[in-house]
Amino acid sequence: MEFVGRWTVEENRGWNTGEYLEGQMGAGVRDRKTCNNMPPNCQLQTVSQLIREGRWNREIMQNVFNQGDREQIASMPRSMFKHSDRFFWKFAKSGTYTVKSSYVKAVQASKIIKRSQKLEGETSWEMRKHTVWKQLWNLNLKHKIKYFIWKCLQKGVAVKEAIYKRTGIGDMICPVCGDEIETAEHMIFTCPRAQFVWKLAAVRWEGLRELKGNLWRWWEVVAQTGSKEYGTEHISLTTNIIWNIWKARNKVVFEQKMSDAHEIMLRAQQEWQEYDEVGQQEETNKQNARAMCQEEQGKVPLVEGVIRINTDAAISASMIRTGKGIVARHWTGEIIRARGVVEQKKGEALMEETLTIRLALQMARDAGWRKIAIFSDCKTATDYINGNNVQDGNIATILEDIADLTQVFDYCTISWVPRSFNTASHRLASFASKLVNDIYWVSHFPSWLKEANRLDERADAHFVSNPCRIKC
Ligand SMILES: [Zn+2]
Repeated sequence: MEFVGRWTVEENRGWNTGEYLEGQMGAGVRDRKTCNNMPPNCQLQTVSQLIREGRWNREIMQNVFNQGDREQIASMPRSMFKHSDRFFWKFAKSGTYTVKSSYVKAVQASKIIKRSQKLEGETSWEMRKHTVWKQLWNLNLKHKIKYFIWKCLQKGVAVKEAIYKRTGIGDMICPVCGDEIETAEHMIFTCPRAQFVWKLAAVRWEGLRELKGNLWRWWEVVAQTGSKEYGTEHISLTTNIIWNIWKARNKVVFEQKMSDAHEIMLRAQQEWQEYDEVGQQEETNKQNARAMCQEEQGKVPLVEGVIRINTDAAISASMIRTGKGIVARHWTGEIIRARGVVEQKKGEALMEETLTIRLALQMARDAGWRKIAIFSDCKTATDYINGNNVQDGNIATILEDIADLTQVFDYCTISWVPRSFNTASHRLASFASKLVNDIYWVSHFPSWLKEANRLDERADAHFVSNPCRIKC
């Protein structure tokens, strides 16, 4: 039996409901996609007979269609019967935003493929990587989704092929369909489940079909549509779809739960829409905060009960060693913890400073502190953390962790202080770089450290940024 209504509607007219309800079901095979044969006793003639009280009648379908077909049919959103081709667009901001227009735009993307091929010939790999990263980072998306997409692009996502190749553990077979090797591309595009999801999506990138075997190239073209009308919205929705396909895949692996395509799509849209709204709100807040900052030079008074934690990193090039110094003070001023970490590596300043901040957050979390103010004398690091404007994948990984860690505190600031007010952690870092083992003092601090701490105390009230706004 072929489900004529469905195919006609989908391929020629988008999601036009009228056609669909009238759609005839007939026996026979067409050259598009064939399904199972009509059972001999089947009385059904029109698609509408499969619908009861506005829902797909699963009982009837059970007798008529095989599982694959049932899934395809059931994954078609019910509400399309009421809203016809505007079903998805109640999620969008603009009233003129229709599936059709979006679909057409996505198809037009194929023209960009040609440009992208030209680009490929002309631009260095480093340059392309940089551009892709920059575009991705500037999207209005949750940190974790940006990071996830970046991982997919870098072949770092833990699909079965990658795990097997790295560790030799398990097999490479896709946990969802059980048919093919699970690569990132299979997971996102070619797995039957993923294909159903994309069929329901308002953005389908049909014009890029030929690029689906290479996620990087596909993404480069998708990213280039960002400058077009609704471009960034399409990309945001696209990333949310990919993210939810991945989450559903993990549900299969870790919870043995299969989500249906409709559910996956709905979740992607909801998350996209919610974050978009939050994003707009946050943008307004940020602008207000920025205006306030300029007035008060970005400083807020230190709150009572806040543990102040100074951090610094030292790199000893001659010895191929790095040291990290973290000094935590009670809000009244005295040192309560001091930690020095030594590592035998070359180290790069920005990275080490950022790692030290992460370590300070871990330390504060493990100590159970609720309110903290972290200081670093590395302006680039604190700017990155507070501004999110990063174009370096390695640092971004650490920032991702930092963003996560800040969530556990009731109050958390990460601010810059001049070197002259960061003496204690500076001395501790260079002290640590000469050690063999790490140190962690919780009482009886050396006098040189206490003395350095007294120098730093003078600065306390002056250098506190606004509380972190890096929310995931
Ligand atoms: Zn699969």
